[in-house]
Amino acid sequence: MPTFQNLLKGIKAEIREIDVQGTKAALDQATPPAIVDVREQDEYVQGYIPGAVWIPRGFLEQKIEDAVPDRAAPIIVYCAGGTRSALAARSLIELGYTNVKSMAGGFGAWKRTGLPWKAPTVLSREQEQRYSRHTLLPEVGVKGQIKLLEGRVLCIGAGGLGSPSSLYLAAAGVGTLGLIDDDVVDATNLQRQILHSLDRVGMPKVDSAEKTLNGLNPDVRVQKHKARLTSDNVMEILSGYDVIVDGADNFQTRYLVNDAALKLGKPVVHASIFRFEGQITVFPAEGGPCYRCLYPEPPPPEEAPSCQEAGVLGVLPGIMGVLQATETVKILLGLGTTLAGRLVVYDALKTRFRELKLRRDPKCPTCGDGVDRSKIQLIDYAQFCAGN
Ligand SMILES: [Zn+2]
Repeated sequence: MPTFQNLLKGIKAEIREIDVQGTKAALDQATPPAIVDVREQDEYVQGYIPGAVWIPRGFLEQKIEDAVPDRAAPIIVYCAGGTRSALAARSLIELGYTNVKSMAGGFGAWKRTGLPWKAPTVLSREQEQRYSRHTLLPEVGVKGQIKLLEGRVLCIGAGGLGSPSSLYLAAAGVGTLGLIDDDVVDATNLQRQILHSLDRVGMPKVDSAEKTLNGLNPDVRVQKHKARLTSDNVMEILSGYDVIVDGADNFQTRYLVNDAALKLGKPVVHASIFRFEGQITVFPAEGGPCYRCLYPEPPPPEEAPSCQEAGVLGVLPGIMGVLQATETVKILLGLGTTLAGRLVVYDALKTRFRELKLRRDPKCPTCGDGVDRSKIQLIDYAQFCAGN
């Protein structure tokens, strides 16, 4: 009867091993090998090698074909110390894989050498419960929920559009929600700005919003920017986020958000409302179209609408803000088809959605052909009328 030690020695003689430095060098190549982590869940959640596919040893034979269909593809297998991965490597060879190596020393040696590793976020018991209707969707799953929890979204404005969009994003578990608004809650806001309440009249909107959003979901880290966007602060504020939800109530902010987002390569989910009508589209991070393809320049100040109070049906921003939240979640999850290149116009009186094609304008000053986006100049246009 061979002892386990003898068995292992025999296996190690049959397979090929690679040390952690060799693994790192292989992973840094232009076409790196597949790296497979065969440890158990409680080990994996403590940290893993970036880029690794996690298949616990017990599932390896069943699942490897989905992860690495090509049997000639180079594979490096690792476990905690190099023993299980040696056994795993032999199984893969038996399955017909021809270029398999086991990482000697395992993840322990990797970590001790000071090589980079990542700690995955896992759902707590409370989160498993809270997000179960998400994780039940195969298109979302635990992986998607973790993406949302790691997601960083900035809502421009905590008003009519920012209220429903931030509420649904918080409910969905978007982990970091930025809100920029320099206003205070006013009694006339309450007809549509459902983040706020009567007892908070006079309170800064970002403070009121934080209270509501954390009351709904304590997982969400609310980052408050009690400011007005200007060419001085827009780059710094936007750079901290993955997706920008533009619910601005004025043109100068929309241009500033558009131009800065193009410079930074961030997608913008844009909506606006007026009386009984709302519009929504997505300006993608790459390519176009952008806001300036729609409206190249703001109207000159003398033609700008006068600053009287514009009316708006209170429910309307609810519809448009929820559509913005939907597009944002899709972008974070990489699901479905966004509204990039399409403008949806909602007429509340006729209950009609119309879809218009939006094309990138090759002559657009900010996303046109040959434009160097890093050189876009940010402009602070004179303030003109608000409509939110
Ligand atoms: Zn453009």
